[in-house]
Amino acid sequence: MNILVINCGSSSLKFQVINAESEKLLAKGLCERIGMDGSCITYENKADDTGKEFKEVPMPDHNKAVSLVLSALTNEKTGVLKSLSEIGAVGHRIVHGGEKFTTSVIINDEVVEAIKEVSDLAPLHNPANLIGVDACKALMPGTPMVAVFDTAFHQTMPEKAYMYALPLDYYRKYKVRRYGFHGTSHSFVSKEAAKVAGKAYDDCKTIVCHLGNGASVSAVMNGKCVDTSMGLTPLEGLIMGTRSGDLDPAIIDFIAGKENLTAADVVSILNKKSGVFALSDGLSSDFRDLEEGYLSGNKYAKLAVDAFCYRVAKYIGSYTASMNGVDVIAFTAGIGENSSFVRAKIVEYLGYLGVTLDEEENKKRADVHRIATADSKVQVYSIATNEELAIARETYALVK
Ligand code: ADP
Repeated sequence: MNILVINCGSSSLKFQVINAESEKLLAKGLCERIGMDGSCITYENKADDTGKEFKEVPMPDHNKAVSLVLSALTNEKTGVLKSLSEIGAVGHRIVHGGEKFTTSVIINDEVVEAIKEVSDLAPLHNPANLIGVDACKALMPGTPMVAVFDTAFHQTMPEKAYMYALPLDYYRKYKVRRYGFHGTSHSFVSKEAAKVAGKAYDDCKTIVCHLGNGASVSAVMNGKCVDTSMGLTPLEGLIMGTRSGDLDPAIIDFIAGKENLTAADVVSILNKKSGVFALSDGLSSDFRDLEEGYLSGNKYAKLAVDAFCYRVAKYIGSYTASMNGVDVIAFTAGIGENSSFVRAKIVEYLGYLGVTLDEEENKKRADVHRIATADSKVQVYSIATNEELAIARETYALVK
């Protein structure tokens, strides 16, 4: 069965077609600037590797974007499908499932309503995700759809990990608590990590460091997530590309007062103008630029990279304590998979765990590779995440 995986944002739509049995990627692409001038679609037939096609084409709304995706997939020359009936199901990435969704579910009217109900927890993401669901429903009315939530994997956290020490009424009335994000990636990578380390998933203590532009750490013990660094929103935890991560909450009111801003203005700065971008004095939020700056002696690039790595190391330490030990540490996502520089800097802090870096292995680039020495007390890997494959697997499991 072929699964169409859709990740729909407010102005973009990423898609992949994956054969569920062989897990082979057949096609992938991206629609950008939906509803704006200059909208465009990128499409790649991966089955025959016919190369990337790029086309500027008006996309006033998501329905148009989905119809262009379906035309590209069934195009006589470069399509990978003869007809739409070859799509057995659609898997949708949905950012926030609140407390309601602890696993993926087949989408029906009740599920759509429940996703809408938790939309105030992710006002930028959930409505956009649902637009993608509606557009697919309109064009493929008989095809089953599955919702795969970014938050679901973290729903196994115990109360002591997810409750904030706030008046309980805020939890009772508004469900203010830690949810965590990147769940599909943490789930996928923690399973891969146990596998490559030769451990049973349900008998393994793993720390997954998902280090991309957005970044989070999770503690996965015996097959269950027991803690994660992102909170009610993705702002908490690690220092990220443009997000501050953890800070003293009193800073918000302090800066608002000094700069004559509202709390919402300051939170927007914490999301969009902070992180390594701010610490590098505006040099870049991209680690390729920051590494280059670091190596050429830019002191703010050094500060940004050092602070980022230090924060990751602090989380690894605290999750090791939470789980009373750790068997495997896995680095993933854009920085975790590609930056041997950042991995080495983080591993420098882990001597107390008996972690020893294998410098040669660490420099390699592969989907899965060991970066600690074979006799290291804790095994450390770089593992490529594959959220789309994880969504396809979840979708297939529910519809087959
Ligand atoms: P997201 O999905 O959150 O947008 P990604 O997981 O795609 O993020 O990661 C993107 C980030 O990965 C880039 O901003 C950059 O900092 C980092 N990155 C990508 N390639 C490299 C590389 N070769 N070296 C260092 N950092 C890299």
